[in-house]
Amino acid sequence: MAPKMYQLLFAGLLGEEKKFREMMYHQGVRPSLVDQMLREAPIIVKQNLSLKAARKYAELLSAMGARITILDQFSQQDDEQDTEPPTPMSSFVPCPQCGLVQSNVNVCPRCGFRLTGQSCKGEGRVASDRT
Ligand SMILES: [Zn+2]
Repeated sequence: MAPKMYQLLFAGLLGEEKKFREMMYHQGVRPSLVDQMLREAPIIVKQNLSLKAARKYAELLSAMGARITILDQFSQQDDEQDTEPPTPMSSFVPCPQCGLVQSNVNVCPRCGFRLTGQSCKGEGRVASDRT
């Protein structure tokens, strides 16, 4: 039977970026790859690893200040990453006063304009004037 495979997820930095870059450089990692890791985190940085190898890499990277998670590669093959439902466009309301588009808020976070009057539901309407 095939041995179980693991992958490493780089979730960001705990330590200093400069130090991390230096240490990665000394490990022979290309700066462009380090750039990509930092830019796209969380990102899978190693795949098809034995648990032993995965632990070794995780230990090494953690020592450099990286946040590393070891993932079971097979359990990752379900398409569960697309389950987040898209926000319907109808729930986005542009503020009539400043134009800031927001979703499901009563008061514009930018200018304080009350948006509750925009909806047809009269619920929650408070008759207080701010003037
Ligand atoms: Zn506004």
